[in-house]
Amino acid sequence: MATVVEIIFLGTGTSSSVPTIACLTNPEKSCPVCLSTQTPEGIKNNRRNTSMVVRYPSAVEILPRYGVRELDGVIITHGHADACYGMDDLRGWTLGGAIQQRINVYLAPETMEVVARTFPFLVDSSLATGGGEVADFKYHVFDPKKDFTIEGLDFTPLAVHHGIYMTTKEPYICYGFKFDGVSYISDTNFIPADTMQLIQGKSRIFVVDCLRCK
Ligand SMILES: [Zn+2]
Ligand SMILES: [Zn+2]
Repeated sequence: MATVVEIIFLGTGTSSSVPTIACLTNPEKSCPVCLSTQTPEGIKNNRRNTSMVVRYPSAVEILPRYGVRELDGVIITHGHADACYGMDDLRGWTLGGAIQQRINVYLAPETMEVVARTFPFLVDSSLATGGGEVADFKYHVFDPKKDFTIEGLDFTPLAVHHGIYMTTKEPYICYGFKFDGVSYISDTNFIPADTMQLIQGKSRIFVVDCLRCK
């Protein structure tokens, strides 16, 4: 199995990023975190929306700042807006084969449904309008109970609770992933016991979100 050589956190903020416009413009100036982002000492508190790049030897380069260019795969954690609405922007990679002909996208069955509903033209290009091309994706719907592999690196889906469905009060499931001993869970408020078994004592790095609401 491939070995991870680098993980790059592109964002570690909330879905709305940090700072928020509400805090920045609040006349009461009550949020020290958001306000700190405007000072030289607090600049590190600027946090983009949550996402991460995983680099391992067989991967080619991706984003320019990190010397990264081609994407071996994109994994979508869940169907919320902040997790998948950036998909259309991936067209920069595939328009006219600018960087690559197509991007492999990995997602759970329920996330595939959301993407198909939200971006019908990204699933069926005959539904596109306008003069340009749309992003070219190959979708890989993973079985939440089975590992999948991208260019030699195995990923184990980690099903976690991420709030509830407002209608049924059932837990809404989001996926974290374990790869080469790194367990990454970006959006959760409860980790079920069977998922905990997959990560506890088996992770050399554990990344988990923590969000305090006042
Ligand atoms: Zn704030
Ligand atoms: Zn979410």
